[in-house]
Amino acid sequence: MTTRRKLVVGNWKMHGSHKANAELFEGLLDAGPSNADMAVCVPFPFLSEAAVALAASAIRWGAQDCSAHEQGAYTGEVSAAMLHEFGCRYVIVGHSERRAYHAESDQLVADKAKAALGKGITPIVCVGETLAQREANETEAVVKRQLSAVIHTLGHCVGEMVVAYEPVWAIGTGKTASPEQAQAVHALLRAQLQAATPQAGAMKILYGGSVKPDNAATLFAQPDIDGGLIGGASLKAADFIAIGRAAP
Ligand code: PEP
Repeated sequence: MTTRRKLVVGNWKMHGSHKANAELFEGLLDAGPSNADMAVCVPFPFLSEAAVALAASAIRWGAQDCSAHEQGAYTGEVSAAMLHEFGCRYVIVGHSERRAYHAESDQLVADKAKAALGKGITPIVCVGETLAQREANETEAVVKRQLSAVIHTLGHCVGEMVVAYEPVWAIGTGKTASPEQAQAVHALLRAQLQAATPQAGAMKILYGGSVKPDNAATLFAQPDIDGGLIGGASLKAADFIAIGRAAP
């Protein structure tokens, strides 16, 4: 059986300030080693702060979006090459908030993932169903459709991405998918990856949606859950560190 080291990634969303970041970084650095690989995805203006604060630590940093384009007249966009210059290890693409509020299509998300990989940045590709879709028994079809666009676009590089299953109804709501519900979807995603790449067994599939210190261990104990994408709880150093320590 493949053992995959857990990965715990914080998604700060549109939170932070110089003062709050300094405190948060200090708390993360004071905490010492974790059982998991750890990273934080911060708003663009804070990338240089993250790079300076975390340079000597094992915590990696990244962004929450990138452009599908290399460069050019795309006002407001940030390219993967720019993220690379700031030392980003990861970039989240296709978060449900971007799919919903910025009308990002499956293909655009796939193109963003490809742009990131092209600059050596690991895309964390988010997939997940809404409550209405779950209630209509569409979960499987939705996540498969979302993942399929990325698989086809990345081709032989598929094995280099990280996937995050984030049921939309569990994000920021305090409603977590049960470990069994999450595992069932992770197993589907793993099977889909297995059909696409021999590296599927080594790929990380993270769970995201109201992960907290008190539910992380049971989620991370599931065979196909390889860590978490953490929103709210990543803004408190003690909680984020505790989630990292919940990894076996
Ligand atoms: C997220 O934003 O990716 C997320 C999972 O948020 P939360 O942990 O707050 O539900």
